[in-house]
Amino acid sequence: MNFVSKTVRKSQDLPKGDIIRKEASIPLSNLMLYCPGCKRGVKIARERNEQGQGVRKCRKCGHKF
Ligand SMILES: [Zn+2]
Repeated sequence: MNFVSKTVRKSQDLPKGDIIRKEASIPLSNLMLYCPGCKRGVKIARERNEQGQGVRKCRKCGHKF
């Protein structure tokens, strides 16, 4: 699952503004990425870093994208 955060401007509906989290669908083909470490397309592992942001990482060598 991947989330994108979008800051919404203040409006009559949302006087204080708000942050909307929306689920973004990811095509399965995007799970294969070229890894410079492995020099080929690899499967990607997802994990969160210290800031809580999702990062993509090579399953084989651990290269971070
Ligand atoms: Zn790799």
